[in-house]
Amino acid sequence: MIRVGLSEGQASAILTADDAYVARDALTGQGLDKFAGNTLTTITVKEKKLAINGKAISAKAVRFLIADSRTMRYLSVAGKKYHGNIVLTLAKDGTITVINEVKLDDYIGGVISEEMSPGWPMEALKAQAVAARTFAVYSLGLHNEDGYDVCATTHCQVYGGIESESPEGLRAVSSTRGEIMTYQGKPIYAAFHASSGGMTAGSEEAGGIALPYLKAVRDPLDNATPNREWQVSMTAKELASDLAAAGFRVGTLKAIELTPLKIGEGAADRYASGRLKQIRFIGTTQSVVVPGPKLRWIVGLPSTLADIRYGTEKKTTLNEKGKIEISGPNTVIVFQGTGRGHGIGFSQWGAKAMAAKKKYRDILSHYYKDVEYSFLF
Ligand SMILES: [Zn+2]
Repeated sequence: MIRVGLSEGQASAILTADDAYVARDALTGQGLDKFAGNTLTTITVKEKKLAINGKAISAKAVRFLIADSRTMRYLSVAGKKYHGNIVLTLAKDGTITVINEVKLDDYIGGVISEEMSPGWPMEALKAQAVAARTFAVYSLGLHNEDGYDVCATTHCQVYGGIESESPEGLRAVSSTRGEIMTYQGKPIYAAFHASSGGMTAGSEEAGGIALPYLKAVRDPLDNATPNREWQVSMTAKELASDLAAAGFRVGTLKAIELTPLKIGEGAADRYASGRLKQIRFIGTTQSVVVPGPKLRWIVGLPSTLADIRYGTEKKTTLNEKGKIEISGPNTVIVFQGTGRGHGIGFSQWGAKAMAAKKKYRDILSHYYKDVEYSFLF
């Protein structure tokens, strides 16, 4: 079982099921109420207590279950159907937290098609299933303070319950049933992203610690990614103002220092894959050094496998000298790069291309080094 936080801060929650269902005190297991199938139950907060259909109860958390667990019937909350149980808890601030207690592979079934199109090759889908399952197991307890394991957003993994399932996604989950990647016997941090842009990132490249199984690797088949090459442009003035808004005040921008990009070549200011480690911005009041991953969010870059062009609206020149002199506030600065996402671990577009010839474990072992495969059940 995994506890997935569906929503927080709710004043109320509305539940139903397509068969008879019951409510129990989630801590003691004591029965609280019974409901016929297809009837709505409203849970609110009344005088700092949970209330079922307006009647306050002493339980701090209520578990809703299908009465006959042998039936293939499901609970719905906020209009969406879920496998497993729904638990509603009273948070410290007096609001309701909605949690889905679900078997791990039923959860992965509601994740995989949010992450990868069901129309993609089966070996890519299987690789995604194993990566998503491993990521989930690694993340167990991440949201313990909120009373659950993982949230249902991009912070952990997007999960939409039964509505998000697809036959192909479910097939990929069942044909890799319980399978995860481990390193020295432990589940790995199975990060993944949309497109590596030609080379993945080591785990340290997005500001994390260096993990032995997450090293930068060449990813030549990633080149079929649509919109893989991208550009983000702005004037020097706009760039200085974006930097200032993030706390990096330089005054008027005068110059930028950055080693030219060569994919797969590190430098003092670039990681091993070539991704931005830091950029120096020189201004009239001071110069600042901005970490690459931070710059990505400040100016909205699809990835940090990037370089800079500069010039006028009509003509820009690629950064080849490592130092860009800015002639005025209207100088155009173009960040140009390749790939989408943080670049760590499994590249979904790379996997899609690789799946034409390779099995899912070969795909995964390309991105995650020296991992082993084991089964949880
Ligand atoms: Zn989360």
